[in-house]
Amino acid sequence: MDRYCVFGNPIAHSKSPEIHAAFAAQTGHKLEYEKRLVPLNRFDAAVHAFIGEGGKGANVTVPFKLEAVELVQALTMRARMAGAVNTLQFTPLGIVGDNTDGVGLVTDIVNNAGVSIKGKRVLLLGAGGAARGVMLPLLEQLPARLLITNRTVSTAELLAQHFAPLGGKGVVSACGFEEVEGAFDIVINATSASLGAELPAVPSSVFAAGALALDMMYGKEPTPFLRFAASHGATPRDGLGMLVEQAAEAFALWREVRPDTREVLEQLRAQQ
Ligand code: NDP
Repeated sequence: MDRYCVFGNPIAHSKSPEIHAAFAAQTGHKLEYEKRLVPLNRFDAAVHAFIGEGGKGANVTVPFKLEAVELVQALTMRARMAGAVNTLQFTPLGIVGDNTDGVGLVTDIVNNAGVSIKGKRVLLLGAGGAARGVMLPLLEQLPARLLITNRTVSTAELLAQHFAPLGGKGVVSACGFEEVEGAFDIVINATSASLGAELPAVPSSVFAAGALALDMMYGKEPTPFLRFAASHGATPRDGLGMLVEQAAEAFALWREVRPDTREVLEQLRAQQ
């Protein structure tokens, strides 16, 4: 049976095994998918051990997405642009790194939440692997503004410099949390602050009337960021839809069939 896994630290919260099991059942594919906790300095060794055990592919989550870029022999164009990898495919010629986070996020916002990004003001919190991965797909939707804000401001500025040529004039910019000015139609929390039940220090004025607030984190309870957003009038949305959509893209890469995500997302929501 073909074997897949997700590497991360922490990893206990991951729903990827359930999602891929549901995709496999739906498409009639026989496969195994497990989660593996990797010590912080053992990512490379963990991947090669899994290949040695016959692994066919893997997902990569926090905090290894940037490290995964260095590990692979080839990158897809979207992974190269993101500078981050969340999907590995093990081939006879070597490891191919892809990034399905961005397309997963955009599919969830546009198709599942029914919110168009075109012409909207978008605020992206965070500048790590997940934030990098969503920049190009977000810009392809032609937002009016895309402001990146991060705890380490220099990282946000580097990300903005990298992607500014791909947006319209003045669309992409960066600043620190406390310096964020103006209101936004879509506010995306791509920091890992929610993993530690922390709230990025952005002002409550960031939420425009009718704003969508999406936290890439998911779990039984709303994150501090989603509670904060909802208490200031925004519509909260967790990262479960993004997770299912990015998983469907990875499944399509490995198995050459794209599963139907609606049913799987409904099942997961019912279990929450
Ligand atoms: P990285 O480790 O690459 O980046 C972490 C980011 O979070 C950095 O920008 C970091 O800022 C910031 N950060 C960390 N702690 C805090 C804090 N206490 N306050 C404010 N900012 C903080 O992680 P990823 O980008 O890979 O993942 C980010 C989150 O997105 C995770 O929660 C992950 O689970 C989630 N995710 C969900 C997906 C989904 O499908 N739903 C897909 C991908 C990610 P600094 O630069 O200052 O360190």
